[in-house]
Amino acid sequence: SKRGRLDQFIAKRLQVSKKAVRQWVINHAVQVDGKDAYGVDQQIDEFSHIVCNGEVLQQFVRQYYLLHKPKGVVSATKDDIHATALSLLGLSTEQQAMMHIAGRLDLQSSGLLLITNDAKWSAALMSPQHKVAKQYLVTVANPLDDNYAPAFAKGMYFDYEGVTTLPAQLTVVSDYQAIVSLHEGKYHQIKRMFGRFRNPVIELHRFAIGDITLGALKQGEYRALTTAEIAIVS
Ligand code: URA
Repeated sequence: SKRGRLDQFIAKRLQVSKKAVRQWVINHAVQVDGKDAYGVDQQIDEFSHIVCNGEVLQQFVRQYYLLHKPKGVVSATKDDIHATALSLLGLSTEQQAMMHIAGRLDLQSSGLLLITNDAKWSAALMSPQHKVAKQYLVTVANPLDDNYAPAFAKGMYFDYEGVTTLPAQLTVVSDYQAIVSLHEGKYHQIKRMFGRFRNPVIELHRFAIGDITLGALKQGEYRALTTAEIAIVS
């Protein structure tokens, strides 16, 4: 990939000496990813946003992907044991380092995972104020009954965090399956909510975040988000 020194990049691009670049860096006239460059030897790549004397020399490219996470793949950038969701995207190491996951899924959960290098976008998407619903198909060990939906709607107090869950919608679809819609994502939230009924979650699959759905994407497959899908939180 196109990794290299900041001074080399600017000197070549603007046809100036490295000495000139050095002076600009000292004078706070060079910014990388929105912050003053910290040195002429700063490492940059093709995804760094580079500004010199107020001129954008390289534009940061925002990237948004949807991955159908298979079971057994970890929602992380790095893991010593399991394959990571990010490794399935086939990005360069530099690109991977810029990406993060908006709303993780547990190791044994499957489904829709959003991966982006746009930190503001994912923060907005995950904030409860935006009311973007995350929808899950949940398979449980014991038969469901009419007591679940009201309890999910009322919210449950989580001792560990000292908070009550936001109203969640639960629709029973069969004896052992329900669709659950959440507007937040606490640690192991769905498993813990069913845990209140001593009902272990056997399978957990996220099929939608807001209007974004998996469609025909198979496990392990991914695609770029459309402009309309990205606009979900604008
Ligand atoms: N709730 C869980 O318990 N696990 C997930 O992966 C997502 C929501």
